[in-house]
Amino acid sequence: MKQNLLTALRDIVGDTGLLTGSDVSQRQDGLLNGQSCQAKAVVRPADSEELSAVLKLCHQHQQPVTTQGGLTGLVAGAFTKADEIVVSLERMRKVIELDRVNRTLTVEAGVTLQAVQEAAEAADLFYPVDLGARGSATIGGTIATNAGGNRVLRYGMTRASVLGLEAVLADGTCISSLNKVIKNNTGYDLPQLFIGSEGTLGVVSKAVLRLRPKPSAEATALVAVQDFSQLSKLLNLAESGLGGGLSSFEVMWNSFYRLVTSGDRHTAPMNDEYPFYVIIETQGSNHEQEQQRLESLLEAALEAELISDAILTRSEAEREKIWAIRDDVEALLNLSPVHGFDISLPIPEMEAYLNQLQQALSQHWPDHHQVVFGHLGDGNLHLIIGKVPYAEKATLDELVYAPLAGIGGSVSAEHCIGYDKKPYLKYSRSEAEIELMKTLKRALDPANILNPGRVFDL
Ligand SMILES: Cc1cc2nc3c(=O)[nH]c(=O)nc-3n(C[C@H](O)[C@H](O)[C@H](O)COP(=O)(O)OP(=O)(O)OC[C@H]3O[C@@H](n4cnc5c(N)ncnc54)[C@H](O)[C@@H]3O)c2cc1C
Repeated sequence: MKQNLLTALRDIVGDTGLLTGSDVSQRQDGLLNGQSCQAKAVVRPADSEELSAVLKLCHQHQQPVTTQGGLTGLVAGAFTKADEIVVSLERMRKVIELDRVNRTLTVEAGVTLQAVQEAAEAADLFYPVDLGARGSATIGGTIATNAGGNRVLRYGMTRASVLGLEAVLADGTCISSLNKVIKNNTGYDLPQLFIGSEGTLGVVSKAVLRLRPKPSAEATALVAVQDFSQLSKLLNLAESGLGGGLSSFEVMWNSFYRLVTSGDRHTAPMNDEYPFYVIIETQGSNHEQEQQRLESLLEAALEAELISDAILTRSEAEREKIWAIRDDVEALLNLSPVHGFDISLPIPEMEAYLNQLQQALSQHWPDHHQVVFGHLGDGNLHLIIGKVPYAEKATLDELVYAPLAGIGGSVSAEHCIGYDKKPYLKYSRSEAEIELMKTLKRALDPANILNPGRVFDL
């Protein structure tokens, strides 16, 4: 890096805002499997004005930039290369305004998801996006990746909770679209352009988030299901029978349930012989009412022979025990060398896809281990495939992703493309679609300085 660029960056962000040398190499590029930071410098602007000046300078010098939030991304999108500098949002953590009447929260992009949830809760409101990495993931990162998580079925992905945002373009232009209203059809919806664009079109610097009334009651059940075809019937029954309150429909295949409950980490709430286990959760405003609704649903499902066993939780402790099984990804590390996949596909295609995949994997790796769980209501499956050597990952990726092309599936349901899934984007997007993405990229970032090499190559 030219010394004058470094000096000019320091002039903008000051000594606190610029890290170099071992302060950079001691940082990680990711919380899970992170490599040490390869970049030449980490720039930490204190506000949008500094961010804008930094990008303007980088644009003039054609200096590639990697944007970093909480580093919890799972597709290596925030990984750095030696010719890059990092722009980190870690000093942009202001909660700017909570508007109770409009039910909006305006924040800087470096605020963590958990801090947003807590700020909403303090005002007796609710920010519905939620995921396991909430303590580190930033609002900017969740916007850049259009994060999904545990409540998509009811509230949608991140894009459904963002009313407006401010983004700084590659040349430093600050686009302020801090819209607060739900209805605003005035030309192109610019905030949506940046949501899910993985930092390739602009750096998100602020956001106006849509808050919801806080659900004050929930009811949760674990049920056992014998047959895949019953799962979608049960989902339909839950959607219609819970008065719009269904907030989770999480399916654990036997392989997952057995693995997680077989050690001494959890007591299995029901026996481990059933092919499928489902967590059904409903949210509303009255505890008795939600319990009653869910109980009636379980009775109807038993009568229709859609479920074989059911536990309706009676306390928060019982509820937490059930969710702890679903959330226990650590148990999966026993399958090392282990590979995780986040895909989506239409529910009617799932069973055949998984059977064919199982056969293909058995041919290549007879001792492999396949574990499946997911947000079935969103068509989103998480596959964990163990006992496959890391050196054979490319073959494994091809076996998992290629069949999705013919059945309307997606190689990434919620984790995006980054570097990791770039070779497989073609299985979910047509050539014309990818070409249009490139046209947008070229228009907004003609020197290709923002997160170059992620999503696709120019
Ligand atoms: C335990 C765990 C559970 C998870 N569960 C889920 C889940 O349920 N659903 C889900 O969708 N994801 C999940 N994730 C993935 C991850 O948390 C999300 O992708 C999250 O949105 C990333 O936010 P971040 O701030 O950590 O971003 P980073 O990891 O720092 O960056 C991710 C990408 O966004 C870009 N970026 C970051 N900030 C900005 C910004 N301000 N402007 C522009 N681009 C930016 C980066 O360049 C990179 O390409 C999980 C991860 C972990 C570790």
